[in-house]
Amino acid sequence: MPELPEVETIARHLAPVLTGQAIARVDVLWPRTVDRPAPDVFCAALTGARVMGVDRRGKFIQIVLSTGQTLLVHLRMSGKFAVYRDGPGEDKHARLRWQLDDGAWVVFIDQRKFGRFYLVDDPREITGDLGPEPLSADFTPAWLAAHLAQRRGEIKPLLLDQRFIAGLGNIYVSEALWQAGIHPQRIAGTLSAAEAERLHAAIVAVLRAGVENGGTSLEDRQYVYPGGGTGQHQDYLGVYDRAGERCPRCGYAVERIVQGQRSTYFCPVCQALAKA
Ligand SMILES: [Zn+2]
Repeated sequence: MPELPEVETIARHLAPVLTGQAIARVDVLWPRTVDRPAPDVFCAALTGARVMGVDRRGKFIQIVLSTGQTLLVHLRMSGKFAVYRDGPGEDKHARLRWQLDDGAWVVFIDQRKFGRFYLVDDPREITGDLGPEPLSADFTPAWLAAHLAQRRGEIKPLLLDQRFIAGLGNIYVSEALWQAGIHPQRIAGTLSAAEAERLHAAIVAVLRAGVENGGTSLEDRQYVYPGGGTGQHQDYLGVYDRAGERCPRCGYAVERIVQGQRSTYFCPVCQALAKA
């Protein structure tokens, strides 16, 4: 599933294609792709609207429109965009597409059908519960330390909770905990101030590296950005999806466990669970 670096990369690729263009035509090919409003209302409201800008909040792409409304897109498992200059394309899994007034087609392709579009007056209707952006000034070591205190759950599922911090997912949480030397099953409230500071620095570092590398494209090829390019960050992962391989830091074998039905990868030496 795309996380902050992948969604950021896609938003950056869509921005120059969309910004300043009016939407001339909208086709909804799989109605459930439109979460709100009803698909016919969605098409009517979008047709003729001009795109003022494209950015990101958490794992949502935000497309700001001249009508005052915002189009939010969540890619979920397999959503991706393609841009075509000569016709709407022939993608078997195309779910929604629009044509811009310069003639280009923007096609949303989603094999698993979990991706959703939300056309709303106020984006906070959808994003209002999200935690801080981890690459913004709001996310500081002191904020993290203060918000970890009193938390009785394990650190890894907490970091996946979008209401705690927005944009993190399984890949970058596994990498940040490894980089910070923190076991994924540690109880969040037991992290020392020094550990919270290391974790903060690791979260920021792995996300920045992920954005610089254009995101992580795994072997399932579910993440490609508009134009079909793939990210490069998979070449820089320390532990994610590497069970049995050597930890790049200490050489011990990377382990895999399941937490909250998600795979967690970690190094049992670099991320030792402190004795009770
Ligand atoms: Zn190690």
